[in-house]
Amino acid sequence: MRQLSEADRDAIRIAQDPQFPRWLEQITATGGCSHPVHLSGSTTTLDAETGEILHHYDTRTEPGERLSVRCRNRRATICAPCSRLHAGDTFHLVRAGLIGGKNVPATVCNRPRLFVTLTAPSFGPVHRAEERCRPRRDGGTCEHGRPLGCAAVHAPGSPIVGQPLCVDCYDYTAHVLWHAHAGKLWDRFVIGVRRQLASSVGLVQSRFPDHARLSFARVAEYQRRAAVHVHAVVRLDGPAGPNDEPPVWGAADRLIDAVYASARRVLVRTPYSSAVGELALRWGDQIDIRPLRADGTGPNDDAVAAYVAKYVTKGASETGAGLDHKVTTWEDIDTAPVSKHVRTLMRTSWRLGGLPECEPLHLRTWAHTLGYRGHILTKSRAYSTTYAALRAERAQHVGLVEIPDAVTERDWRYVGSGHTPGAAFIAAGVAEDIATNREIAREEREVRR
Ligand SMILES: [Zn+2]
Ligand SMILES: [Zn+2]
Ligand SMILES: [Zn+2]
Repeated sequence: MRQLSEADRDAIRIAQDPQFPRWLEQITATGGCSHPVHLSGSTTTLDAETGEILHHYDTRTEPGERLSVRCRNRRATICAPCSRLHAGDTFHLVRAGLIGGKNVPATVCNRPRLFVTLTAPSFGPVHRAEERCRPRRDGGTCEHGRPLGCAAVHAPGSPIVGQPLCVDCYDYTAHVLWHAHAGKLWDRFVIGVRRQLASSVGLVQSRFPDHARLSFARVAEYQRRAAVHVHAVVRLDGPAGPNDEPPVWGAADRLIDAVYASARRVLVRTPYSSAVGELALRWGDQIDIRPLRADGTGPNDDAVAAYVAKYVTKGASETGAGLDHKVTTWEDIDTAPVSKHVRTLMRTSWRLGGLPECEPLHLRTWAHTLGYRGHILTKSRAYSTTYAALRAERAQHVGLVEIPDAVTERDWRYVGSGHTPGAAFIAAGVAEDIATNREIAREEREVRR
């Protein structure tokens, strides 16, 4: 008889446990999370006046005397089921800011709304997947003796795409420092848009909040050259936010002009360093602005929300631009499964991170993301709902609703995380079933339409 694998033997052990049905229920409740967190403890709900116990839940009767909850990781490579859930939440969050829902009024769809893409500037020529990479009639070489052009035609998936033509000409320092300041560039950009809008209608900058409010949700995405660019939904409301109409002067065209002007003007100077000097950081020349119109012309709102949601499931590793986990030594960088270009960016981050003047940028902590330390999704408070509100809504659906006039006592502790090999195998099956069922339900909906 063939020898069973460790996972098979473990799965059989789990399935033969008398508490297996309840265990499977827990795994299903986590959506088949691949790295669940295990908790032990209890929740008791008492009537505030009489002290009578209304509800009591204790993990002592659960399989293994514990409750498993989702890891809630957003990255598909780390936990596919949780990343799908997170992408779904992101979709609803972005969509609500575009067309309403989740306590946002439907009237937001008539506000000036833009889908904006801001890029990083060039840090040196890289190979491109276009008709011809970088044709140059007169040829020529750089000071390092490497060709300035490339006449090849690269397939879009080719590993050479995004790699520099000359690694010595490429400004790795500027690339990493630009990443480290991308958050600041964004903040200044937003301030600049408000300022442009105010001055275009003769308002003093400080009076802007009395007239209008600018809201946004943005995501960062790594391009092939391993530089981050930013996609954002920008909306203009009245001073009170989503429930308030913008002023008469607040039309889409004026917002477009303000976005262009601010994106071109923003400048962040790095503090002087004897090793790198002082850099003036800006957005790249490629600025893309698409107005979203309620009449259905132009980009579709759902498509924009789905586009944004897709990026939050990707870490630096999926796009080939870095790693999902932090590096702790120079050797970690040497052995990382990344391209030569990305490795050089990680090394540059690490090296700059050792300079006292770069300390506030935490470049060693963020070497795995090439110096970029921003969140993948950022939004302003008034844009729409929050992840926490969406999770609370989901909890209500499954009956974890808070009882009014009751006191709830909670006592929980972390007892571990992850699956045994057999449990991982079963959880993956559960996750697959859920995904298949969702796919079937979607197809049925489409057929009915
Ligand atoms: Zn998970
Ligand atoms: Zn090329
Ligand atoms: Zn060169």
